[in-house]
Amino acid sequence: MKITKIRIDCLSVPLRHPYRLCREYGVLPATTPVIVSVFTDEGITGYGECNPWPRFTGDSAEICALTLEKHIAPAVIGLDPTNINAIHRAMDEAIRGQHLTKAAVDIACHDVWGKSENVPVCRLLGGELRKGMRCMWAVGGAEPEVNALQVLEAKQKGYDGCMIMIGGEDWKHDAARTAAIREAVGPDFPLIVDANQGWDVDTAVRYWKQIRHLDILFFEQPVQSWDVQGMAEVRRRIDIPVSADESVVTLRDARNLVEAGAADVFSIKVAKNGGIKPARELCDYADASGVQIFFNSMIEEGISEAASLQLGVTRPRVFAGIGHAYFSPNRLDGDICSYHEQIHPESGESILSDLPGLGVKLDEAAMKRYTTDTRTVAEV
Ligand SMILES: [Mg+2]
Repeated sequence: MKITKIRIDCLSVPLRHPYRLCREYGVLPATTPVIVSVFTDEGITGYGECNPWPRFTGDSAEICALTLEKHIAPAVIGLDPTNINAIHRAMDEAIRGQHLTKAAVDIACHDVWGKSENVPVCRLLGGELRKGMRCMWAVGGAEPEVNALQVLEAKQKGYDGCMIMIGGEDWKHDAARTAAIREAVGPDFPLIVDANQGWDVDTAVRYWKQIRHLDILFFEQPVQSWDVQGMAEVRRRIDIPVSADESVVTLRDARNLVEAGAADVFSIKVAKNGGIKPARELCDYADASGVQIFFNSMIEEGISEAASLQLGVTRPRVFAGIGHAYFSPNRLDGDICSYHEQIHPESGESILSDLPGLGVKLDEAAMKRYTTDTRTVAEV
């Protein structure tokens, strides 16, 4: 089998409610996924997605589309999409870095491979250990009483825990929000916090001293992504696990964090980490290094979510005590995927589809509604 054509669709999908993140990222009104369709000479089509977010990833949909059109698509057209190693080598030889963009092609090729073998992608990764993943919710910045009601509602819907976005201008306000949420949901509802690089070490520690009695399960990305020493210092000065998200993109990042004693948890995002293959390698490294794995997400549509779920169910050890981030499409105006089984986390759980490949089908009407730009690169 060989790749004959690649279609690149840039989308703009509004969030149901604008998402107020930390100081670093401001307020997000819409997400801009890039959808890659890989066509083959055997008539099988695979779908991939990546989730550029300029202030988070340093990429934009326009940059991803250009990279795909000019560098990556020409390098992989003609190759066998089921040879994932050869696909990655060709992409790496075409252009350095660009992990996010390469993820879309990696995911689409896994989808083709699964469809060609008539098995879900998780089978290609060694097989599933569970039928689904428990799922949490997340809340952005708002007044404490508003956040408290939002998280209470998530608990009542069945979500297994919540991530609270902190890292705002005023750490005391974030501490008050955290306390109001804990009071509303009671002592047993799992909570984690994420500063999204918004603070320095001292601010992070001051915040933690204020909320240390609230039983927060981990503290994600308190300082800038490059500040491995700062991550390590926060980890020494607080007594809950520190999670690395923006700090861990590649295996080399993972090694630097482990060697510096800078993280207890890695937030794995298939799109951020360069696709299913690199994300799986990171999981193996984390397991071997005593670092826990948390399946997190960008603001994703259903293809990235499905890729993450296919990997998540194969992992023997994942962070226990709270659901993982399989809720992102529920935050959006609409989903470009339809599913055979329910993989949406309405019930607090994302259940694996038994369709081959990623288990998703593109909803063409939704694609049309959100697409802002389409490019096609074909065999010459
Ligand atoms: Mg994060």
